Amino acid sequence: MNFESGFRMLIDGALVDSEARIDVVNPATGRSFASAPDCGDADLERAVGAGRRAFAGWRGQPIEERQASLRRAGDLLATHAEDLARLFTREQGRPYAGALSEIQLAVSWLHAYAEMAPPVHIVDKGDGQRVETHYVPLGVVCAISPWNFPVSLSVWKIAPALLAGNCIVLKPSPFTPLCVLKIGELLKDAFPPGVLNIVSGGDDLGPRMTAHPGFAKISFTGSTETGKRVMESAAKDLKRLTLELGGNDAAIILPDVDIEKVAHKIFFGAFFNSAQICIATKRLYVHDSIYDALRDRLAALAQSTTLGDGSEPGTVLGPLQNRRQFERVTALIADAKADGLTLIEGPAGPAGDGYFIPVTIVDNPPEDARVVQEEAFGPVLPMMRYTDLDEVIGRANASDYGLAGAVWSSDIEAAVAVARRLETGTVWINHNLSLRADTPFAGRKQSGFGVENGVDGLLEYMAPQSIYVPARKSS
Ligand code: NAD
Repeated sequence: MNFESGFRMLIDGALVDSEARIDVVNPATGRSFASAPDCGDADLERAVGAGRRAFAGWRGQPIEERQASLRRAGDLLATHAEDLARLFTREQGRPYAGALSEIQLAVSWLHAYAEMAPPVHIVDKGDGQRVETHYVPLGVVCAISPWNFPVSLSVWKIAPALLAGNCIVLKPSPFTPLCVLKIGELLKDAFPPGVLNIVSGGDDLGPRMTAHPGFAKISFTGSTETGKRVMESAAKDLKRLTLELGGNDAAIILPDVDIEKVAHKIFFGAFFNSAQICIATKRLYVHDSIYDALRDRLAALAQSTTLGDGSEPGTVLGPLQNRRQFERVTALIADAKADGLTLIEGPAGPAGDGYFIPVTIVDNPPEDARVVQEEAFGPVLPMMRYTDLDEVIGRANASDYGLAGAVWSSDIEAAVAVARRLETGTVWINHNLSLRADTPFAGRKQSGFGVENGVDGLLEYMAPQSIYVPARKSS
């Protein structure tokens, strides 16, 4: 298979081209290097229609068959992981090792879902009536994914939706369609025609999909702003909805941490993938007694971290993924400078038109600074002093977002007690970013609603059906 060109959509089991194309830019150069189909109305109709036609057969298969298909799909991805990772670096910008780990993560998700099944609940109180609650699939799922983790976040939708017995039409971000289209090509024969459909297109494709009456459910990952539009669109015909949206995660560093041990982890918990992670640390609250020492250690790490083209060996952090995001984060940093905030900056990236922004630490900005209040989604990290634990928990919780957070301490139980008080769906102790396929992940407040991962994530693609079974002789 050629991983350099020939990017086509997967519709009804066939690879489909389109005359209209969208350009795909390598963010390390700022130049277009490939193009993807721009799905028109007729092709979208075909994809939704194929899903609807395939639904009865697919949901009717024994779950063991669907599990086996997911297992095979995982194996196929694993076989082509290196090729996918090289393409991933070119379209997304992340250096190769991190790119490969994302493909492997997607493989592990397919394999993990291949071991799951929905529960059946039986209520039988011996009063002559039994109630069986089964979980049934919904129909055709509209899945929309973002550009920061284009492969894994797409597979987070494909695996549970298909295991549940639904069919799916998935759309990757227009900034990063290529790996996902290649995955469609790889998985062309892994499922019956129409079960897995992958389409690509420009900015208008998402709204056309969410408005389409043929979908039973929308699973969306992206910004809070777009999530609200998706919800409005879903309201017209009450489509089921899962929204995984933005975050402004706080990490609270208690005074007893061993700075030498934790600094590296804290640094990459904020800056991995050039900080374009919904669950990255985006506000760092550090106890006053260790603030200076940790700041100096993080500043040294910023200085020693190589920023560059992810396809060059030795690169640790790559560019921002797209010009829009580059301009947003550049403006946020300019705003912080204009406000007189103290910035600690790492080395600049390569000259040229790539979307490079140096690692930037903002030294103790006020709580109401834009850089603290907004989700930067780029390599700019505000770190703030605190002295009182109750007060800092209040500051951490004073956010419209509620995605995740972290607590760092040598006293694990003390850290867990703080974690319990954070208003977020996930909290890590002494690390962050790691998620498991068997554990629910859910945002609170304006980070969205619904669940991904685990059996809870599977049930998001299903509806309960309760069957009341009378005692044998009653009628
Ligand atoms: P985005 O909202 O701009 O785009 C996400 C997807 O929605 C893209 O595929 C885009 O083409 C599509 N889209 C755009 N407008 C649409 C519309 N009106 N209707 C339907 N679809 C539309 O987000 P992004 O910039 O690609 O991603 C970054 C954001 O995603 C950040 O806020 C980040 O925190 C969030 N995110 C959240 C999670 C999570 O699990 N909670 C994971 C990753 C990223």
